[in-house]
Amino acid sequence: MKSQDIRAKFLEFFKSKTHQIVPSAPMVTKNDPTLMFVNSGMAPFKEYFLGNGTPTSNRIADTQKCLRVSGKHNDLEEVGYDTYHHTMFEMLGNWSFGDYFKKEAIAWAWELLTEVYGIDKDILYVTVFEGSEEDGLKLDQEAYDLWKEIVPEERILMGNKADNFWEMGSQGPCGPCSEIHVDIRSDEEKAKVPGADLVNMDHPQVVEIWNLVFMQYNRKADKSLEKLPSQHVDTGMGFERLCMVLQDVKSNYDTDVFTPIIREIETIANVDYGNDEKVDVAIRVIADHVRAVSFSIADGQLPSNNTRGYVIRRILRRAVRYGFTFLNKKEPFIYRLVDVLDKKMGKAFPEIKEQKQLIQNVIREEEQSFLRTLEQGLVLLDRVIENVEGKVVSGKKVFELKDTYGFPQDLTELILSEHGLTYNEDEFNAALKKQQEDGRVGTKIEADDWVVLLEDEDEEFVGYDTLEVDVRLTRYRKIETKKEGVQYQLVFNMTPFYPEGGGQVGDKGYLEVPNGDVVYILDTKKENNLIIHLAKNLPKHVDQTLRAVVDKKQRERTAANHTATHLLHQALREVLGTHVEQKGSAVHSKYLRFDFSHFSKMTVEELRDVENFVNARIEGKLPLEEIRNRPVAEAMADGAMALFGEKYGDTVRSIRFGQSIELCGGTHVENTADIWHFKIKSEGAVAAGIRRIEAITFDATKEFYFENNRAYYEIKDVLNNPKDTVKAVTDLKDENAKLKKQIESLLKDKAKNLKGDLKNELEDIDGVQFLAKQVDLDQNGIKNLAFELGGEMKNLFLFFATATESKVMLTCYISKELVAERGYDAGKVVRELGKLIHGGGGGQAFFATAGGKNPGGIPKAIERVREYVK
Ligand code: ATP
Ligand code: MG
Repeated sequence: MKSQDIRAKFLEFFKSKTHQIVPSAPMVTKNDPTLMFVNSGMAPFKEYFLGNGTPTSNRIADTQKCLRVSGKHNDLEEVGYDTYHHTMFEMLGNWSFGDYFKKEAIAWAWELLTEVYGIDKDILYVTVFEGSEEDGLKLDQEAYDLWKEIVPEERILMGNKADNFWEMGSQGPCGPCSEIHVDIRSDEEKAKVPGADLVNMDHPQVVEIWNLVFMQYNRKADKSLEKLPSQHVDTGMGFERLCMVLQDVKSNYDTDVFTPIIREIETIANVDYGNDEKVDVAIRVIADHVRAVSFSIADGQLPSNNTRGYVIRRILRRAVRYGFTFLNKKEPFIYRLVDVLDKKMGKAFPEIKEQKQLIQNVIREEEQSFLRTLEQGLVLLDRVIENVEGKVVSGKKVFELKDTYGFPQDLTELILSEHGLTYNEDEFNAALKKQQEDGRVGTKIEADDWVVLLEDEDEEFVGYDTLEVDVRLTRYRKIETKKEGVQYQLVFNMTPFYPEGGGQVGDKGYLEVPNGDVVYILDTKKENNLIIHLAKNLPKHVDQTLRAVVDKKQRERTAANHTATHLLHQALREVLGTHVEQKGSAVHSKYLRFDFSHFSKMTVEELRDVENFVNARIEGKLPLEEIRNRPVAEAMADGAMALFGEKYGDTVRSIRFGQSIELCGGTHVENTADIWHFKIKSEGAVAAGIRRIEAITFDATKEFYFENNRAYYEIKDVLNNPKDTVKAVTDLKDENAKLKKQIESLLKDKAKNLKGDLKNELEDIDGVQFLAKQVDLDQNGIKNLAFELGGEMKNLFLFFATATESKVMLTCYISKELVAERGYDAGKVVRELGKLIHGGGGGQAFFATAGGKNPGGIPKAIERVREYVK
């Protein structure tokens, strides 16, 4: 069965069991501070399990793009070495939200695998949670009995808490699970070792394919369990592993999900898969990673230096580095695989097809720059190898290569071993640990349980219509981070506070308490569908009605920037073309930032046209036309712009100003006239094919022009109020250039005169023509002087010191014959005497310089240099 059909069959099957089929959510998460990427099928549905929202159906099925490269699930280091873990994979899943439970979940899983897919029952094993003493939980008898009806008892195995009790995090919904494993070994091997002994033992051909999770408990902050009010089912089946079983192969990489990519790698790199384990690992790494990186880019996460982006960058670099070392690829090539990936998956996941060009460009550019890094790293490493004393290289050096230059540690290790060297791993690990700890400060959150005051399903957002409203606190909890200390998260029955989202920052403001006290709201965020308000303290009486007030000025500025962002988006597509797509947006109160796909630097004219376009719409006084809760299809038919990597519900809100229509949840001005004015402050590159514009609006533009004006008048003043300021500055520049030239030639003359004087001052010490002196020349002048003297005379030992306000320099010149005959070393001289001026330097034996900061050391240096002649 082809992989496409396998996927389709799964969805059809659950559709026939009255499940709603939904598309995969983007792999890059939003609104979830605990998760960078979706790492299991349930992640996009977390809010429903937590009871913070209602799903469109209580039975849902889908295939979800997952990425397991960070946090709780990190399979990165396995990938390539084994044949059944990927970084990015598809998880097929069916869900019950308070609807069916173990009985149906188990029966359907079995029906699908054995009847629809026709998997031989004799190769399947199932596991059941055996219970846990510390949690006071017994064997999951219910699941056991259900399995017993369809599976022989010797194929039902007990699983411990680590394997068979699933938890969402340290707190929250959890429960026992039943896994389904397959044994795809040959009959011969099966005869030797029974499959039951290999389940959950990391055997590559006895692997878990499906996990059925039965959520029935809630884990509280004190680690105790309470029963959930309603029970849920969450299942996840690895799509690529299922394909392996159904296509009767022994590795995920031998399924048609991967073989076209692998064939392409073989062609490009001129290698064969299956002959040499090292090469095979590299091929698997690359085939896997190109998927992960391509899908991340398609979902809006570009490789970069911060959090999510850095994870993606590291995955890609891992692929580049395996290609570099084991396939001998010194040129970018991974981007060339995107074509095949698109042919294979573009149908099921159109985001790949539609953004192919961008994905290719970004990957190529990243490859290029990392290959450069690798080459530089090799040079640096050569130097380390040359200078090593003994057989062990410093672990700090290896860490520095990795951290500062991005040069991977395993590559360093490999190269060192080729030179018969190792490195100090303890030192390396200590440096790594220190860095990780430094990076972690402030990120770890300790959270208490929610204190629920009022049961309230729907926390209504009223902030589109009002900035002030009376609210009741429905729940709160205390949290603690290293950086911010103790804070409180507050949830209300309704709120005017906009939670950070769609690039727009969260509202700030305050709560008025009846007795006149005020509690400041520092930020507002959405987490698992709850709007959470952050405060330093709680209102004294948590059960009173409070007046929630949004900071109006901040909101006005943010709204102006948000509306301007839409107009900018429209302008860019108008001026540059419709290839422009939004690739990131940050709407702050002080400025806006907009990233978009475009392949070259914008010209001054283009920038001016874009500014004019936006300002024309501001002057046009276009009113806001907002439609809430409209069907997606209707909004799209109107010409609304939807963004890749965004998850839209069935109904959306559309925002229109003139011809600009976007699906958007943000806050906007009532009329474009409220923006006052739009001014671009910068345009630049963020990645290959991605540009960034930063701009300001509203009162920030007033300040900007005011500030520029003030600077202008100050300049005029300094220039004594010329009629034509630009001309005055140009004249000044010309004059300055002329003067510089004159000074240069004067300095040359001066050096010539000096040379004559110095010749007379040479002192003969035992056949050496010696001179040590402080002179008033620049560094270039001194060098020329020394070399000219050296050309005219023999046996010279010159030592010059110079001091300017900012720098002290020592220069030592020794004729080559002295170096050869007497072993003099100018490098050593300046290195040692450099200490007297609080500096250092070096060079060659016949010429060396040192720079420092302490002019007070010069006389001593001049005195001591004689010692080197004797
Ligand atoms: P394993 O022990 O094999 O790593 P898991 O216990 O981590 O699996 P779950 O978290 O239960 O797996 O995920 C559900 C299913 O997703 C698994 O049964 C498996 O088929 C699939 N799966 C899990 N991790 C990966 C991965 N890295 N690559 C491909 N498929 C995976
Ligand atoms: Mg795992």
